[in-house]
Amino acid sequence: MNIWTQSCGFVLLCVLFLFYRQQKKIQLNTEKAFGWVFCAATVCITLDILSIVALNYAQILPEWFVLFVCKTYLVSLEIVAFGGLMYVCIDIFDKKAGYKKTIRNCLAAVVIGAALIYALPIYYYVEEDGLEVYTYGPSTSATYVVVLILIQLTLFFTVSQKKKLNANRRSAVQSWMIIWIIAALIQFFNRQLLVVGFAGAIGIMILYIRLENPETNLDRKSGLFNQSALQDYLKQIYGKERRYAVLSLFFDYSLDKSNLGETEDEISVDVIHYLSEIEDALLFKYSEDEMVLIFDDIKKAVGSVEMLQSRFESGWGKDDAIVLHPFRIFLPDIRMARSAKDVLPLMKYVREISRDNRRDYVESDLVAVDKQMVEKMYQERETEKLILEAIEQNRIEVYYQPIYSTQEHRFTSAEALVRMKDEKGALVSPGVFISVAEKNGMIIKLGEIVFEKVCQFIQKKKPEQYGIHYIEVNLSVVQCAYTYLAEDYIKIMEQYNIPPRLINLEITESASLSAKKTLLDNMKCLMNYGVKFSLDDFGTGQSNLNYIVDMPVDIVKFDKDMTNAYFENGKAKYVMDAAMHMIHGMNLEIVSEGIETEKQFRTMEELGINYIQGYYFSKPLPEDEFLTFLYRECVKEGK
Ligand code: C2E
Ligand code: MG
Ligand code: MG
Repeated sequence: MNIWTQSCGFVLLCVLFLFYRQQKKIQLNTEKAFGWVFCAATVCITLDILSIVALNYAQILPEWFVLFVCKTYLVSLEIVAFGGLMYVCIDIFDKKAGYKKTIRNCLAAVVIGAALIYALPIYYYVEEDGLEVYTYGPSTSATYVVVLILIQLTLFFTVSQKKKLNANRRSAVQSWMIIWIIAALIQFFNRQLLVVGFAGAIGIMILYIRLENPETNLDRKSGLFNQSALQDYLKQIYGKERRYAVLSLFFDYSLDKSNLGETEDEISVDVIHYLSEIEDALLFKYSEDEMVLIFDDIKKAVGSVEMLQSRFESGWGKDDAIVLHPFRIFLPDIRMARSAKDVLPLMKYVREISRDNRRDYVESDLVAVDKQMVEKMYQERETEKLILEAIEQNRIEVYYQPIYSTQEHRFTSAEALVRMKDEKGALVSPGVFISVAEKNGMIIKLGEIVFEKVCQFIQKKKPEQYGIHYIEVNLSVVQCAYTYLAEDYIKIMEQYNIPPRLINLEITESASLSAKKTLLDNMKCLMNYGVKFSLDDFGTGQSNLNYIVDMPVDIVKFDKDMTNAYFENGKAKYVMDAAMHMIHGMNLEIVSEGIETEKQFRTMEELGINYIQGYYFSKPLPEDEFLTFLYRECVKEGK
């Protein structure tokens, strides 16, 4: 009896099954589909063996029984092929309706195929020595047709839906199908080699090794479900009707480290154990610092969030001496995000903005995601897209706001201010897009574009002829911390032949705090080249006189708020007076920004402020209007 290949396949599947059964699984749809295919393949190979045995004992067994076993084996072949197709479709059709429709149609084909197999006649051939055993006839042909259609459809999907299909799944399924076809051809031409069943087992093994080994969903160190399992799981539950809630716990060990010392690992084992015991929640390890709990019910989620709060407050380790402060973000419903793949970025976004808002670490760090936060994230994404498009389509412009010198009694400089137009040509305020560009790093490119445009403007329009000594250009915090800033800016000035005395770069105080060394290196390099610096936004938030002492700036710009406060608040007057005397004492010049009325202008002039900038003289103007403005001023002065 020639059943050794089938037996090998059977043993192989049994061994795999033993492994598979014991492994921790997450109940993904693909896992379930694989489970079905696995069972079908095992039943198929068992029936294959049984049919050969039955054929070998055909003389002593009732004929109807032999034929029934053979036909049932053929039906099981169809079912395995159908399982392969279903397995692929799970990845392709994330919308339930599409998936169900395809599966229904294919299932109908399988049922019709099975009915034909049982209805049509089948014949068999058994050689005397039992080496060549096979079935033939209409029933066998019907099986070939249905199986071939299903295999072709599966291969077709793996090619046509390439983008939707997980690349590993695609190639694993393709290998399986191809091995099957080759085995069928071998068996067709050499009837002594019954390898189709074995090929099916090899196919299952390939799927297992490449994709369905549940170990691949686990984090090696903690044994928890890992990031890729979390992403697959979110994708799966997003379409369901239930309201799933997510709680992310971010462990900032750098803050707790001094407490933790040597015991960090032990504590984290305790924490993991505690979290994984929480009922009705699945625990995932998203990264080294972050764990995520998914609840299938909002009420249970809220209860657990409260329970966690008190558990974490009561401490860990020996004598509960170590108190951890995980930063917790709670998303009450995953469908607040617009798609499954936005859920985790949304949690991250909320964590970042919450952290920015409260610098001090507080024990009850729990933030519930609300609609405004979600809106803000999508708005920022829109702005990001807008910036990218504006850069690509050259919709970035520079406006110039003239700056008046109280000593020379005319306009001697201007501030370059970036403007971006949306696709309809409407101006977008820098207040909206600068912070977004800073966040995602696009500010480096944007800053360079602005600087290049300023250099082009100076080269082409020569504003010096109208008495402009220099143009002030804003530098963002992120640019100041960029190692190649000085190098890039010097290159641009050289490219346009711009004497460095025509450029004054504005830095802000926050820039120096976050990356002081890089900023100072950049400043040194540019100052050696001949560029000067101003300190912008003085009088907002964190102004610090020491800072002026430290920074090699020539000009200090009083912010609009500070200027306004001077007129509205008696005490602020003294602060500004004192600051002004100190700054002048250091031989630095002062620009007052945001001057809107003649009274404000006169007061500042009398105070001895060196430069005045504000709507009183002009709003920021596009290049040509700015030149016209300067020209008119020169005419007025009779120059
Ligand atoms: P800033 O550097 O302090 O610029 C001064 C802002 O005050 C400008 O707003 C200007 O239009 C506005 N302003 C000037 N005079 C008056 C006034 O009399 N009344 C009022 N209400 N406002 C006045 P803008 O152009 O919207 O820029 C806002 C901020 O965006 C700038 O503040 C600067 O921090 C940033 N920014 C603008 N252009 C750039 C750029 O090219 N690069 C970088 N990194 N930041 C820029
Ligand atoms: Mg400025
Ligand atoms: Mg300013």
